[in-house]
Amino acid sequence: MNLKNYIALVEDYPKEGIKFRDITPLLANGKAFKKATDEIVEYAKEKKIDLVVGPEARGFIFGCPVSYALEVGFAPVRKPGKLPRETVEYEYDLEYGTNTLCMHNDSIKPGQRVLIVDDLLATGGTVEATIKIIEDLGGIVAGMAFLIELEDLNGRENLAGYDIMTLLKY
Ligand code: AMP
Repeated sequence: MNLKNYIALVEDYPKEGIKFRDITPLLANGKAFKKATDEIVEYAKEKKIDLVVGPEARGFIFGCPVSYALEVGFAPVRKPGKLPRETVEYEYDLEYGTNTLCMHNDSIKPGQRVLIVDDLLATGGTVEATIKIIEDLGGIVAGMAFLIELEDLNGRENLAGYDIMTLLKY
């Protein structure tokens, strides 16, 4: 089963020049979704993970079944104003403007080994902010897994020194 057959390419979405990789056909197919999840779980098994962290919103879709399979907890990374208790925040630059991500203060215990899971690695900005928050809270980023990697955006170079696994490269 070639998982690339379940990723739809949408040209010029959400704006001109962007090749959007739509994962919803993969999610719609139980065997493809399970295969993608299982491969991330296989990667994570040897990393002695204590907690899975996933950024809003597609990081939840892949992060939760992985945390369930590993029998460890899941902690969400969210945009401002979504988490009800005290948070740690990190602001980072986008092509135009900035973005802020947040996690609850107590979502990670110092020394916990964390796996970051998201659908797609592009520039690495989202995951870089996620790493900053995790490390701020005393967590150890033991690895990160993505369904898709867009190689020409150099996310991997921007995250040098971290262990990265991606299933489908474009
Ligand atoms: P980045 O912070 O640049 O690594 O972007 C990562 C996030 O943006 C991912 O979580 C994706 O959900 C989304 N994203 C960026 N580029 C694309 C793309 N070409 N197709 C689909 N989603 C994308």
